[in-house]
Amino acid sequence: MTASAAASEATTPVMSLESVTRDYLQGDETVHALRSTDLTLRAGELVGILGPSGSGKSTLLTIMGGLRTPSSGTVTISGQPFSNLSEKQRARLRLRRIGFVLQASGLVPFLRLNDQFSLHDRAARTQGDTDRRDHLLDSLGITKRAHAYPSELSGGERQRAAIAVALYHDPDIILADEPTGNLDSVSTDQVLEILRRSVD
Ligand code: ADP
Ligand code: MG
Repeated sequence: MTASAAASEATTPVMSLESVTRDYLQGDETVHALRSTDLTLRAGELVGILGPSGSGKSTLLTIMGGLRTPSSGTVTISGQPFSNLSEKQRARLRLRRIGFVLQASGLVPFLRLNDQFSLHDRAARTQGDTDRRDHLLDSLGITKRAHAYPSELSGGERQRAAIAVALYHDPDIILADEPTGNLDSVSTDQVLEILRRSVD
């Protein structure tokens, strides 16, 4: 890589949104879930998005993660088009680069917690890293639950498990939708510290 290519890589945002909107059609009414939004995320940034219920936070995050497409506007990842790729291409990019913590945990119901990590290895064709897995389970305080199914976990444990799985493949971008919503204040502090450390 040339020096100028390296320099431009350092300054290119990890993700950027330009005039992104999303409308939903409900009957014959249009819901403007997300009005025109510009957002630039740079490496190492921890960004919080605040707003009352129904203000479009989940809509925004699912568009950033490529689970939904915008009604207008574009999302780019490292300067490359993202939101206008096919669903399959977005899924591939998401698998490699994005860690998603969704409100509905996103854990696979019929897999024990340990196996949720192996599933990612198989999908991404990566070597399993049991040290990293065990470290994440430990730092989130759920080592003892490693053999449990999601339905056997408490809401807070499930949420922490989803965070561990999302961080496992060391994604460039972590999108978390109310990741501390089900946690007590001690666990909330832990999770915020873990997220802060993982963007360093
Ligand atoms: P938040 O996460 O901030 O609570 P959402 O992004 O979930 O907000 O929702 C924003 C608005 O879009 C709300 O008015 C919600 O009812 C509406 N909405 C969200 N998803 C859909 C959908 N699939 N169909 C129709 N309306 C939706
Ligand atoms: Mg929401």
